This record gives sequence, structure tokens and C-alpha cells, in this order.
Amino acid sequence: MYKHLFGPVPSRRLGMSLGVDMVPRKVCSLDCVYCEVGRTTLLTTERKEYVAEREIKEELNDFFSSHPDPEIITFSGYGEPTLNSAIAGVIDFLKEKKSQLPIAILSNGTLMGDPAVRKAILRADIVLPSLDAATEEVFRKINRPAGALDLQGYIQGLADFRKEFSGKIWLEVFILPGFNDHKAELDALKKAILKIKPDSVQLNTLDRPGTEAGIRSASRKELEDIMAYWDMPRVEIIASSVANKEPAAYREDVQNAILETINRRPCTLDDIALITGLHVNEINKHLRTLEATGSIRTERQERGLFYMPSQRN
Ligand code: SF4
Repeated sequence: MYKHLFGPVPSRRLGMSLGVDMVPRKVCSLDCVYCEVGRTTLLTTERKEYVAEREIKEELNDFFSSHPDPEIITFSGYGEPTLNSAIAGVIDFLKEKKSQLPIAILSNGTLMGDPAVRKAILRADIVLPSLDAATEEVFRKINRPAGALDLQGYIQGLADFRKEFSGKIWLEVFILPGFNDHKAELDALKKAILKIKPDSVQLNTLDRPGTEAGIRSASRKELEDIMAYWDMPRVEIIASSVANKEPAAYREDVQNAILETINRRPCTLDDIALITGLHVNEINKHLRTLEATGSIRTERQERGLFYMPSQRN
């Protein structure tokens, strides 16, 4: 059982992906209302070695010596990976050890205003930053940033990264109806996107209720309307809750473990992680499949969102 690696898990966008967690739960520069990992417990822009580079390299060495190679390595997980000052060292290590494996970084992009952060991830192959708002008011409402963060510096940082980085940039915009889908915000977002010049813009929305009550997913029609309103090339919808996708054939043993757990009693994501020892990102993938096949349902209760078998009364 690894502490800082998870999967490999199948990812629609990236393929069979080995996840690397660079920060413990939950260190982030944002505290997004829709975050599936839960509330940010250390809201910070301070970069340091939250997880030791040596520990991550040891786990990677162990993984590579006893498993087949995944299709891609993805830095993601419990918070913002670029907050770990050792990220460049881990990327260099992977490029030396497994030069054929592409590296993706799921980042909120907020630290890109710092040239040292941009330099640290230059050797990655795909960077997937997010941008959900382009006005201060909406940025504060959706992303609840660490105090030191400045939205214009964040957008400029992404535009600067575009000029320096030769890999792919897939910019994710998370649409939350009532927060960032009004015309003024969409206009400001479009302006920011045209400035950043990503290779693609990926519209996402809630798969299920986030950490806060009172937020909802955008429907497919709402996302299509936004695409039509923007009228820009290379914008696509990636939201799994609205995409016409076949549920992926994930490993049945893991799904069985999750089903056995929630069959005993309804559980939150945290409960399932604690009981099964699986990473929340991995559990989330399986929960999506189980929901898509109608095997489970959710119910919001006082302690959060609970998962239970569909047939339970
Ligand atoms: S940036 Fe990502 S990890 Fe951080 S709070 Fe937002 S959704 Fe969660």
C-alpha cells in the first residue's frame, strides 16, 4: 500500500494513469466550493516539501520494480501539486527513469505567476490548469483563494506559461450555474482564455454535490449554450455527469470492495477511503461507474454526502 501513489486508474482524458500525490490531504491554495476531496485544511501559497522527495522516489522505484508501466503519470490528488517545492526533482527523476512515459499535471494554475513554479513543471508533457472565474468577485465565491492570491497575476501566469511551455495545455473551466454562467463572467472568461491560448478548453461541472450545499451541476444544454455563446475553437465538454459515455470497465474487485462496504451501512467518501484504504480519487472513479450503472445512489445528510445501494429503502 503506497502513501503517495494511487492507481493506476483509468482516466477518460489521459488513459491508464498512475497518480502521484505531492501534498497531504488537504493542502491547497484554493478551497473550491465544488471540491470532491473536501474542505481545504491548509489554505496556503507557501511552497515547501510537504511530502519528502525521497519518499515519493522510493515508492516510484518500488512500483516500477513490481508493476507493469501505466500509460501516463499524473500529478494530482489531495491538493495543489505545485505547492510541493520538490515537484521538479520528481519530474526529473521520472524523465530519467521512464523517459517514454508522458507526465501530466493537474494543477489549479494559481501559482503560475511565480517563474520558479513555471520552470519546475516545464518538463511535463500535458498541464491541465483550471480557471473558473475571471472577475475577483466570482473567483472569491467559487474558489475561495488563499489571501495572497491575485486573480490577474494568476491569469498572466498562465499566459506566460503558454509562451514558455512546449507541451499541451488543456484548460479546465468548471461551470457552476448561478456562479459563473452569467454573461459578464462568460465574457471575462473568454477574454482570459484568448489571452492564455490553451490547446483546448474543457468544460466540466459537478459529478455529484460538492462540499457545499446549494450548488448544482450544469446540464448538457447549459454547457452547450456556453460553447455556442463563446464561439471559440477547441472548446469541449468533458463533464462525465452529462457526457454520453459508456461506464468504463473498472476493476471489479475494487467495485466489489466498495459495494460490500456500503452494503453494511451508508458511507461518505471519507468513510469508504478509511475502510477500504483506497485513495479518494480512485474511489471516485468507481463510484461514477456504480452510479452510471444504477448500482448505488446518494443522499445528503448532516455529515455529508452518503453512498448507499440503490435498492436500499
Ligand atoms: S484547486 Fe482542486 S484540490 Fe484545490 S480546492 Fe479546488 S478542486 Fe479542490
